[in-house]
Amino acid sequence: MMNRRQFVYTAAGAATFVRGLDVSAAVKYDLILKGGRVIDPSRNLNAIRDVAISQGRIAAVAANISADAVETIDARGKLVVPGLIDIHTHAARITNGPALCLADGVTGFIDAGSQGADRIGEIIAVAKSAPQQCRVLLNIGRAGILTEGDTMDLNRADVAAAREAIGRNRDMIAGIKARLSREVAGQNDFEVLRRSQEVASAFNLPVMIHMGQTISPLPKLFALLKSGDIVTHMFAPPPNSIIDDAGHILPEVLAARRRGVRFDVGNGRTGHLRWDIAERVLRAGFLPDTFSTDWTPESRTSQVIDFPNVMSKFLTLGMSIDQVVACATAHAAGAFPVFRDRGTLKVGAPADVAVLELKEGSFEFVDNFENNRTGRQRLFPIATVLAGKRVARA
Ligand SMILES: [Zn+2]
Repeated sequence: MMNRRQFVYTAAGAATFVRGLDVSAAVKYDLILKGGRVIDPSRNLNAIRDVAISQGRIAAVAANISADAVETIDARGKLVVPGLIDIHTHAARITNGPALCLADGVTGFIDAGSQGADRIGEIIAVAKSAPQQCRVLLNIGRAGILTEGDTMDLNRADVAAAREAIGRNRDMIAGIKARLSREVAGQNDFEVLRRSQEVASAFNLPVMIHMGQTISPLPKLFALLKSGDIVTHMFAPPPNSIIDDAGHILPEVLAARRRGVRFDVGNGRTGHLRWDIAERVLRAGFLPDTFSTDWTPESRTSQVIDFPNVMSKFLTLGMSIDQVVACATAHAAGAFPVFRDRGTLKVGAPADVAVLELKEGSFEFVDNFENNRTGRQRLFPIATVLAGKRVARA
């Protein structure tokens, strides 16, 4: 006599005899997202599909999955995309930051330089308690972000202190953040970046530079960037933008991309994003590798709002929905090893999923210089699935 544990119900609903397997959890799916438009750039997929999840992993992506599930999310009329990955936030500055971002669809993030060696423990404690995958970048300025400028005093770019902090937290520190604007590093920008690379090279880690309004010309700084490094605030206006007055991307910028340097949006609120620069850079064919919010608690009500809002700005600027989703998922997953198996809905991947609604209408977007653009579409976060479980709305 066969018992219940000897049956597996397949996706088609047929019973199959299996000897000796523990199939108690495979009788039906844990969760099915029904009827949404699945956009998964990692597989060039953009079609109406059901997504079935079992034991925390994607179990099937197919049209009309008829098997039972413990829970079903009606995704008709919505977009179903891999969980969003935000590689430049400050979400670990506050204890509920990770949960707030999770509700926006962000199932993985990098806290990018909120603290330096002196107080990195505070950021790491929040990062470790976060429900989703996250890692931190160590600010090369040992006192972290300072209103008087992180490394205006060059002694704060302390190589020994940074190395010691990474050595103690090798599992949580995924790279170095060097903020190079004139009000942050002043004349020290080049030496701060050189020291950042000195620290990074000891651990084979990437450096993320915050570009824009630097004192040193960009070509001089970019000469220090290696494959895997990230340039954030890529649409910062002059002085020292990535595009010249004639509309040409600087040759050093093109060369950096060719050798594997990544270019990231880093929306933020001050000095990082101006529509006319973004339009000219996109028109020159130089698309971002990744989007990121530069999220802070204050930006939830100003300019950034949420990650889907940042994505929407690039629909307004003319990128396709597939390109926009790629920048927020598959491309971002490639930037840090912690996300290596994320940013995809392929069968077997961890089941991190964002359900978004693409609404049509009239939506106002603002850059960091109080310029408005009106868009016809805006993405809204509807539901988040993390490791196969629907996240309760905060
Ligand atoms: Zn930032």
